Amino acid sequence: MDETDKIIIKEQIISDIEALKKQIKLLEEKAKPMLPDCSQCDLERSETLIEVELMHKILNGSRIRLAKLENALSQINSPEFGICIVCENDIPLERMKIRPESIRCVACENAKRN
Ligand SMILES: [Zn+2]
Repeated sequence: MDETDKIIIKEQIISDIEALKKQIKLLEEKAKPMLPDCSQCDLERSETLIEVELMHKILNGSRIRLAKLENALSQINSPEFGICIVCENDIPLERMKIRPESIRCVACENAKRN
């Protein structure tokens, strides 16, 4: 990965971090449980709880991705950046542009999942 590519990816990471932070803020607002205060609306209550639970799941996922992106940003000048931690091949630039937090190439990522 040359310096120009690194600059492109760095900008990508920074804009992803900004977008994620906004998303997390929004989700935190939505994830606050606002339970209807009445005994007649148990159904509504459980629906609200399911929604809040889903929000928390998305929120957790976003926080994990944010941590990975921040880690990627701090590692960007390291010689290992953009190299698969498993097979030590270069992770394709196109993948790094879409998911700059990648630490594995597509093949190793799939192998890990299966
Ligand atoms: Zn690999």
